[in-house]
Amino acid sequence: MTKRQETLAVHAGTQPDPTTKARITPIYQTASYVFDDADHAARLFNLQEFGNIYTRINNPTCAALEGKVAAMEGGVGALAVASGHAAQLLALHPLMEAGCEIVAARKLYGGSLNQMGHAFKRFGWHTHFVDADDPANVAAAINDRTRAVFIESLANPGGVVSDIAAIADVAHAAGIPLIVDNTMASPVLCRPIEHGADIVVQSTTKFLNGHGNAVGGVIVDSGKFDWTASDKFPQMSQPSPSYHGMVFAEALGELGYIVACRALALRDLGPAMAPMNAFLTLTGMETLALRMERQCDNALALAKWLQDRSDVSWISYAGLSDDPYHRLAQKYLGGKGGAVFTFGLKGGYDAGVKLVSSVRMFSHLANIGDTRSLIIHPASTTHRQLEEAAQREAGAGPDVVRVAVGIEHIDDIIADLDRALSAV
Ligand SMILES: *Cc1c(COP(=O)(O)O)cnc(C)c1O
Repeated sequence: MTKRQETLAVHAGTQPDPTTKARITPIYQTASYVFDDADHAARLFNLQEFGNIYTRINNPTCAALEGKVAAMEGGVGALAVASGHAAQLLALHPLMEAGCEIVAARKLYGGSLNQMGHAFKRFGWHTHFVDADDPANVAAAINDRTRAVFIESLANPGGVVSDIAAIADVAHAAGIPLIVDNTMASPVLCRPIEHGADIVVQSTTKFLNGHGNAVGGVIVDSGKFDWTASDKFPQMSQPSPSYHGMVFAEALGELGYIVACRALALRDLGPAMAPMNAFLTLTGMETLALRMERQCDNALALAKWLQDRSDVSWISYAGLSDDPYHRLAQKYLGGKGGAVFTFGLKGGYDAGVKLVSSVRMFSHLANIGDTRSLIIHPASTTHRQLEEAAQREAGAGPDVVRVAVGIEHIDDIIADLDRALSAV
């Protein structure tokens, strides 16, 4: 099969429906599936044969989405779940026990900082946040209890591009997997597995869906990590009490991890993707490559236009050739900077509030990756609970505005911001 993303986006994972010949994958809106006979049921429950049992665990519409994302990311398998945050939770669950640790980049999506810094603590999972711009900081934070390194390929706020290969080397030297959140880049700009990532997670809510109409997440497994090389991962390498003593890494080979995500983590924790959301995401993904191309072009043009304005003090966008992360963007993102960036207003907090109130075509909301251009002033919304010092630390100081540039005509995007900035 081709590796070209434009073609995979349209064709991978889907084929005409075998029973009805419907060209488009139907929404299999069913909770359960009929067994052929008692023997068939037993084989399915024993994981001796893969098949549909119950939609919390698998569903054909979700399976088509899993196939498409796995192909585009270059993995051996994928698991679609209810949200990006569910993907992160379920990706880590097969690796962690109470008392285990995660080393994560400090510059992450704000919701991930909350999830890992606060919610996971209550499972007894401890996260060390480090400045991952220097892979030595990741190495220094790893200890005997560390079970995963977690970074974003392209992170926002901050416009950070991670040195995936260098961080993968650090993780592998310690015998632990690297998990990369590839939401902001999407597989069109970056395939982290090709650079050494073991596991990729995505919030499909953003660019994969692309139309802002369904929340979802996905885990992709490279199939490359050796779970049996140490005793760090007993859920993978030791007999599983809930599967008659089966050893996932041995019985399922390179599919062991992604099947464990489904058959242990999703089965027992439960955040399944709804088939309707899988359908919307499948439809959206067909245009992913086209949208990314237009959105990156628009974002670069908008960033260059903002650079010349006297009311803008700085722009953080790895697509600009003088940006500190541009070198890494050339290595990992084909020189592109994605569709999301932040900039600073000389007028500070008040100017930020005024700007988001003055736009007409841009939508003022908390999302990215839509066809529509989106804008937000983090200090008055997503980061308003934080003290100012913590806001600045997170790249969300009082003067910061974030845009997620859409697919509209660039002249209309610029005209809307020009008018709104003049009103400020
Ligand atoms: C939105 C987002 C998430 C969380 O995804 P949800 O679908 O909202 O749960 C995780 N990481 C990144 C980079 C995101 O943008």
